[in-house]
Amino acid sequence: MSTLYRNGWIVTMDDAESEHENGWILVDGSTIASVGSGMEPHADERVDLNGAVVTPGLINTHHHLYQTLTRARAQQADLFTWLRELYPVWSRIDADAEYAAARTGIAELALSGCTTVFDHHYVFPRGREGLIEAEVQAAREIGLRIVASRGSMDLGVSDGGLPPDELVEDLDAVLAETERLAAAIHEPGHGARVQLAVAPCSPFSVTGRLMEESAALARRLDLPLHTHLAETLEEEAYCLELHGCRPVEYLDRLGWLADDVWCAHCIHLSESDISRFASTGTGVAHCPTSNLRLGAGAAPVREMVNAGVRVGLGVDGSASNERSDLFFEVKQALLVCRGRGGGAAITAREAIRLGTRGGAAVLCRDDIGSLEPGKCADFAVWRTDVLELGGADDLVAGIVFAGPFRPDRLVVGGETVVSDGHLVKADETEIAKAHRVEARKFSG
Ligand SMILES: [Zn+2]
Repeated sequence: MSTLYRNGWIVTMDDAESEHENGWILVDGSTIASVGSGMEPHADERVDLNGAVVTPGLINTHHHLYQTLTRARAQQADLFTWLRELYPVWSRIDADAEYAAARTGIAELALSGCTTVFDHHYVFPRGREGLIEAEVQAAREIGLRIVASRGSMDLGVSDGGLPPDELVEDLDAVLAETERLAAAIHEPGHGARVQLAVAPCSPFSVTGRLMEESAALARRLDLPLHTHLAETLEEEAYCLELHGCRPVEYLDRLGWLADDVWCAHCIHLSESDISRFASTGTGVAHCPTSNLRLGAGAAPVREMVNAGVRVGLGVDGSASNERSDLFFEVKQALLVCRGRGGGAAITAREAIRLGTRGGAAVLCRDDIGSLEPGKCADFAVWRTDVLELGGADDLVAGIVFAGPFRPDRLVVGGETVVSDGHLVKADETEIAKAHRVEARKFSG
């Protein structure tokens, strides 16, 4: 079955940065067969896009889906205060709550143009099973690709860590459970719908030994590796006190910095840290709204991109960015970058590139992130006949500057997931209602 999506402004994000202003995409099954303009190829079905802008599906490189259950808490707090207040609340998580939370976050992401979501889950209270399976199920039902992760914490407060002792796990149990999940859910190769990453939480909640063993396991199983890094100055001070070095140096010592690794935030990087990231191929998930919400600072994105560091975007968890709107992060990335470096620091197209091609590179995926023959048919269609875009000649820049918008249509692997701005395979109102029931367990 082939479908021709015609009469759109196709932003390919390929190496040549090609755009087709009166263009089309031919999709064959789950894959893009060709992209172009002018003479239209034959197809079994034709869809008129009415002049809409078409971008690759956005790729979220950092999230904690469970946090939709605990929004607007610790409102004036910095990271460590925020974490200390929320850890005990998060310890109530179970598979039903995780499922409701994941459906909410993933629905929000789909309605912001996201086609692939990475989730960093690291809260595993004793005896609660099926948490990762619950979020995978939610992603499958709504129709997005998911890169789930088996996160971990094994450095409790009595050993000098930040999390309460009842939320930390035994190292061997973490590794065994990670290996079990990899065998159960991870799909290798082109077009994978479900993948697994190995993701110990952070230098202040995980022992050096678990960081090293996690890296060894990930490399044995050929899974990508992820953690939080250099988010706040307090973290830097903590690292200096406990490990005698700054966060990037610490990760380097543990053998982490490499092209199968990406780190969330990376706000407080020195020039030499950035060079080290570039020379080792280490990637970064930039989460501008969360960083501003917690007053953590703004990551040196222009400097990282100039140095050749892989950079993608993330909404981060909904307790520090109450909204899972990845298109809004595209706009925020642009504004934050300009706030640091001036009006010419980044273009609207570069911001879209961070959210698409950049995200694919960060997740070590070469089958998504751009609209090219042979890639997965993952794309978002943005209407241009709306109030906010009147008067914009450059509609591609227009959707970023005037954003965020809901996509009119979202296609994942050739399947329509959003149509007329609404979920096709799930009901937004029902998801919100079920979420409210679960979220009550986390209040008070
Ligand atoms: Zn995070």
